Amino acid sequence: MAGKFSFQLDATDGAARAGVIETPRGQIRTPAFMPVGTAATVKAMMPESVAQTGADILLGNTYHLMLRPGAERIDRLGGLHRFMNWDRPILTDSGGFQVMSLAGLRKLTEQGVTFKSHIDGSSHELTPERSMEIQRLLGSDIVMCFDECPALPADRDRIAASMRLSMRWAQRSRDAFGDRPGHALFGIQQGGLERELREESAEALTRIGFDGYAVGGLAVGEGQEAMFGCLDHAPAMLPVDRPRYLMGVGKPDDIVGAVERGIDMMDCVLPSRSGRTGQVFTRHGVLNIKNARHQDDPRPLDEACACPACRNYSRAYLHHVFRSQEIISSMLLTWHNLHYYQDIMAGMRDAIAAGSFAQWRAAFDAGRAQGDIEPL
Ligand SMILES: [Zn+2]
Repeated sequence: MAGKFSFQLDATDGAARAGVIETPRGQIRTPAFMPVGTAATVKAMMPESVAQTGADILLGNTYHLMLRPGAERIDRLGGLHRFMNWDRPILTDSGGFQVMSLAGLRKLTEQGVTFKSHIDGSSHELTPERSMEIQRLLGSDIVMCFDECPALPADRDRIAASMRLSMRWAQRSRDAFGDRPGHALFGIQQGGLERELREESAEALTRIGFDGYAVGGLAVGEGQEAMFGCLDHAPAMLPVDRPRYLMGVGKPDDIVGAVERGIDMMDCVLPSRSGRTGQVFTRHGVLNIKNARHQDDPRPLDEACACPACRNYSRAYLHHVFRSQEIISSMLLTWHNLHYYQDIMAGMRDAIAAGSFAQWRAAFDAGRAQGDIEPL
């Protein structure tokens, strides 16, 4: 596909940044939130509906897609974009993290990871080279390096050894990726909560040279305070002229805190997964639609929200379809949550461009402190 991958930083406000990633499949406005389309679908959403929420890019999971339906099959069917009917950019993870969290009987060596599928127990191997091949077969626009990271807390020696293995794999990922105009390869910084290890990792990645850089190894059980403590210094170690991606984050206040600390891209299953369990995110915090307080309430989830769930349906209806386990419940609540997340991102982009991020942040905090509307 013709065209180039590039990143333009348009505005900064404190450490917060706003910009645009150009790809042959369209622009990604940053800071960007990427909904997760694990198995070639954002669950309960049509792809055109995902686009209507304001998402410029989706995330796909290499681990899931390689097991089912298989990367070679998706390639024969025209690639992931055509397969799932999403023509905008797609970022794929490397599979490394999910092998560690989902697969059975893993064996980790210098070469890579062998594991048994959580679906049928079949044996598979992932290496930096195979991960690059799978992500190429999928047709991913932004490819992630194959890496490994321990759950936190872990001792320093374990974190250091794991980070250095990931840096050797980053070089092998770079070599295997080759030269693919219009496609980007991102390196992943590791090092847990250890500042010196984060610096060593950032130096190793910068020496190799990537189109973007992820802060990896966070949101793995360390808690928000420790994560923010790391983000107070980790993003600034990465090249200023490349996008910075925080993987697997998070709740609305995690996202705002990460952008405040210089992160440009994030992904998380939380808004879509919560939509299926009845948990709703609004300007006033979290509400649970299954609570009886909503059963006679004719008001929308959030009167200021422009999503279809809020424009056309009452809390009473959403409560009813959730309690009745109707499919439309997952559809509407997921749509609302994803729309709200994209509203946050748009609000932050505008505020950073206007130099008013602190005021936007104060209004965000005030809305949450107010809490959900009083029951009728
Ligand atoms: Zn809504």
